[in-house]
Amino acid sequence: MHSKPKVLWIDAVSCYGCSHSFYNYPQIKELLNKIEFLYHPLLPSNEFKIQKSDILIIEGALKNNFSRLEYNLIELISKLIKFSNKVLLIGTCAVYGGIFGEGVLFNKDEKGKFFKCKDKIISIPGCPPHPEWIAYAIEMLIENKKLLLDGENRPKEIYSYTSHMGCVRNEYFEWKVDALDFGTKEGCLFYEQGCQGPYTHSSCNKILWNEVNSKPRAGTPCFGCTEKTFPKRNLFETVKFMGIPANIPLGVSKRAYLTLAGVSKSLKNERLIKRLIDEDN
Ligand code: SF4
Ligand code: SF4
Repeated sequence: MHSKPKVLWIDAVSCYGCSHSFYNYPQIKELLNKIEFLYHPLLPSNEFKIQKSDILIIEGALKNNFSRLEYNLIELISKLIKFSNKVLLIGTCAVYGGIFGEGVLFNKDEKGKFFKCKDKIISIPGCPPHPEWIAYAIEMLIENKKLLLDGENRPKEIYSYTSHMGCVRNEYFEWKVDALDFGTKEGCLFYEQGCQGPYTHSSCNKILWNEVNSKPRAGTPCFGCTEKTFPKRNLFETVKFMGIPANIPLGVSKRAYLTLAGVSKSLKNERLIKRLIDEDN
């Protein structure tokens, strides 16, 4: 009988939110049965020690001289990466730095301390990442299947989409009809509420949270939590110059965007505008 892949999950500077997201994976028991958990800070496991692993999972950011730690975090992670075959970075903190500090692979948009180990690293950003994304990456690794990665080592299967794709408000986006407030069902949240969906690599509107919802579906703008720019200032604002968004949706030329936006606005979709007004009354 083959031995189970050995998985070691370490927390750097984190809030444990990524771990908690993973606990919501509906088939977590079956998944855990396929691996040998050498260590996890919250799940039942042996005491922590530096050892070899097939998969090293890192949650949380790096921070020099973090006063609450009695050991050198960077040195510890360096040893663990050296002793592992593959490294999964779980969460935006671990990939880019996120809320707490520097990432393992990137420090925001610069190369991070362990960029030289890029070949064995897989990035699963998100604050937190969806449980299905975490489980997908673990499953692929334990089954020794090839993960197709993009330039930032994110699995293309999950991150080649934007959060905007699959949003139920897309028709409003196309016709430039904006929601009047948070929590409403009608209207797009892009211009007035700061939605980052068109700039954010994630599949939140394809692989729904709890299989039923996403932020924009519930009337909350996407915060762009999978991106290196997260957390941005003014979460609920789309920066504009003379009414034009400072950042144009990914993959669209400014000229094409302005032409389409101008046409949509001037033609007006009366059906969508009526739905918006009916909801407000
Ligand atoms: S990525 Fe978000 S949820 Fe995960 S540890 Fe960092 S702050 Fe917490
Ligand atoms: S609410 Fe956000 S994700 Fe949905 S269509 Fe508008 S911009 Fe796109």
